[in-house]
Amino acid sequence: MNPKIFDIIKALDSLFPDAHCELNYQNDFELLCAVMLSAQTTDERVNLVTPLLFQAYPDAKALARAELADVERIIHSIGLYHNKALNLIEMARVLSEKYDGRVPDKKRELVQLPGVGNKTANVVLSEYYDQAYFAVDTHVSRIAKRLGLAKSQDDVLKIEEKLKRKFPKQRYKKTHHQMIFMGRYMCKAKRPLCEKCPFELKKYCRFNAYGKDV
Ligand code: SF4
Repeated sequence: MNPKIFDIIKALDSLFPDAHCELNYQNDFELLCAVMLSAQTTDERVNLVTPLLFQAYPDAKALARAELADVERIIHSIGLYHNKALNLIEMARVLSEKYDGRVPDKKRELVQLPGVGNKTANVVLSEYYDQAYFAVDTHVSRIAKRLGLAKSQDDVLKIEEKLKRKFPKQRYKKTHHQMIFMGRYMCKAKRPLCEKCPFELKKYCRFNAYGKDV
């Protein structure tokens, strides 16, 4: 294994051995809804609204029949709630009509669902179906750039491709969660806690070297 990747894996394992998905869910349908709701908001906020949402609409068939205003009322505390409510209902309609209420386990089918993009599909495939996908969100993107695993101008698809090339397949899911934890709790966007960052990461960090973000 490349020594840099070895160092990064070792450091992330010691910092965040139990990194995991922080969205609460019980099944494939709930996970997909929660991931769709999590765009541009925190998992914490999503976890506040999903208990009521899943109580009112326990499966795709129920959500497909929902009134838009009712779903909006439940999720109004999170950003972009109008579009998210529309997408949730449409997504549920397709799930119940085409897939008998189950979330498909193929990327080409997932990305055809209303409101489901590349990142959401990757999260579901990796988290629920244990497939080798690497979801890149804002935290993963920032950490990858700061650690020189991607270039500053790379878009998310490029970053995803680079991370998949560099890390062993069996590490995609864990590394994805660890990079998110790193971004949330240590390498924050504005004031990263560099004094707590281990040497194995610091030595590759561009933010540190240039005193500004990459
Ligand atoms: S040294 Fe600071 S900016 Fe660099 S990876 Fe560590 S926490 Fe992030």
